[in-house]
Amino acid sequence: MAISVRPDTHRSSQTTQYARALAENEDYAAQFDRSSLPIPPGRKLAVLACMDARLTVEDVLGLRTGDAHIIRNAGGLATDDAIRSLVISQTLLGTEEIIVIEHTDCGMLTFKDEAVRNDLASRTGSKVDLPLLPFSNLEENLKRQVETIRSHPWVKDVPIHGLVFEVETGRLRPVD
Ligand SMILES: [Zn+2]
Repeated sequence: MAISVRPDTHRSSQTTQYARALAENEDYAAQFDRSSLPIPPGRKLAVLACMDARLTVEDVLGLRTGDAHIIRNAGGLATDDAIRSLVISQTLLGTEEIIVIEHTDCGMLTFKDEAVRNDLASRTGSKVDLPLLPFSNLEENLKRQVETIRSHPWVKDVPIHGLVFEVETGRLRPVD
């Protein structure tokens, strides 16, 4: 299904989600037992993944609190900011392996950059000069992100894996 620019969410809905989040946190804190973990991730792993709501990285990879850095954005793209986080992860916090996860049915496959930017510009009255970075070929795009990270001068020479998560089956498919 294609995604499109949505009207602003009504404030009462946001408030409801906020109250619910705080209530959920009460339950979480009541059974929280991971207060003594060190800052560096225990499994020395950094994950870059799409922000898609159907991709729960911790569940998919069997990660627990304290195991890994998980960097997420729309598409799971190796943007400057994702690279910034990876550099900090490796240089200051000792991670030694990178996994990049994109997924089937990604929203980033469903729109054209210019159309959405034009729509946003006409709705807000301001120029939209931020590239939204959609893509049309999942595997190609994933390989490009892996290559961008691999060839980056500030990223250490560590194993980097590209994986497609299938939202239909829950399985990971290597793309190398
Ligand atoms: Zn996605």
